[in-house]
Amino acid sequence: MAFDEKLREYARLPVRQGVNVSEGIYVIVRCPIIAADFGRMVMEEAFACGAKDVIMQYSDTQAARIRYENAALSQFETVPAWQAEQSNYYAREGTVAISIIAEDPEAFSGVDGAKLLASAKARRAALKEFYDIMDAGDLRWTIVAYPCAAWAKKIFPDVTDAQAIRLLWDAIFKSVRISRGDTVKKWEKHDRLLKRRAGKLNKYAFSALRFQNSIGTDFTIGLPEDHIWYGGSEKSNDGYVYFPNMPTEEIFTMPHCMRMDGTVVSSMPLSYQGCLIDRFTLTFRDGKVVEHHAEVGEDALTRLLDTDEGSRRLGEVALIPYDSPIRAQNILFYNTLFDENASCHLALGRCYPNTVKGGELLSTEELYARGGNDSVNHVDFMIGTADLSVIGITKNGDEVPVFENGNFVF
Ligand code: ZN
Ligand code: ZN
Repeated sequence: MAFDEKLREYARLPVRQGVNVSEGIYVIVRCPIIAADFGRMVMEEAFACGAKDVIMQYSDTQAARIRYENAALSQFETVPAWQAEQSNYYAREGTVAISIIAEDPEAFSGVDGAKLLASAKARRAALKEFYDIMDAGDLRWTIVAYPCAAWAKKIFPDVTDAQAIRLLWDAIFKSVRISRGDTVKKWEKHDRLLKRRAGKLNKYAFSALRFQNSIGTDFTIGLPEDHIWYGGSEKSNDGYVYFPNMPTEEIFTMPHCMRMDGTVVSSMPLSYQGCLIDRFTLTFRDGKVVEHHAEVGEDALTRLLDTDEGSRRLGEVALIPYDSPIRAQNILFYNTLFDENASCHLALGRCYPNTVKGGELLSTEELYARGGNDSVNHVDFMIGTADLSVIGITKNGDEVPVFENGNFVF
């Protein structure tokens, strides 16, 4: 396939499979200005699928940086109601949301962490209505990536900007299974495999998982009663199938935020708010991080953990085989959307309410009582290695192998 054909196929992917645009619905497209050409293609595809209207929300990382460097902290502590209302309004009216990301992993390095934190908190609070509708399963959403030069050069530092961008395009296309046409069929087949594995884990209904590998991870994570494993596509309340992340290789559920013990060692660097955190260790007692250390970016890690009470606890555990097509490319993407799909991961912070039975109907307090963590953060970090073993522990205490040598046993 020629590059242009692949690109068009890639613009169709978030529209048709990602959020599954249906007749007469609004479509919000969050688009960095450097991806404007691609954003317009996505827009065309959305209208072609019957969208009532497409709302473009452009963003500019460099402008954001200038603002962080010059505006006072207080400017980041609130989001004006009129600004939040744009998203909240369409969420109420019935919309789907496509986010295009083109992040420079170091876009905000050196920026005052307090401003970044205030901005994230204020945004979450102002868009509460939007996110509540999304979490309740009434708003289909997806994320796709677009290569910018700074990101591409971070991954491929030894070639020109243009070559790096081209290499990153290839890597993205491979990751989302765009090659020689048949993209829809490939996604359907992939989805079936993820569903089969998630189904098996749901049948076991483990009470805990034990992770071990040679780099020092030795960690037991409790799973709440009635947790649910998900993988691949999800279904909205009105019955539409959609893929929240593209690519997606993970099967994930809710850990019990009070029941984690032992030590976890990161297996890949984590890019957090434009800062790199690498080779870090977290030690948990009764679900809470009681000790942490990072060889690179320890300040950023401390800031992450100190964001709020829930940032020291886990909200997600995800299983990804070491032989996934993203891992097979042997590239560190410096981007969670890709790197989290290369490796088993955990997330510090907020849980996904729907990963426990009936969870989307519970209040924050009720969810917490069932083991579901709450925080403004949800930050994934990678723990998978070629020698990772995962043992499932049943309610009767029986041990069932889930992962051997980094891959699923079933
Ligand atoms: Zn995940
Ligand atoms: Zn996550």
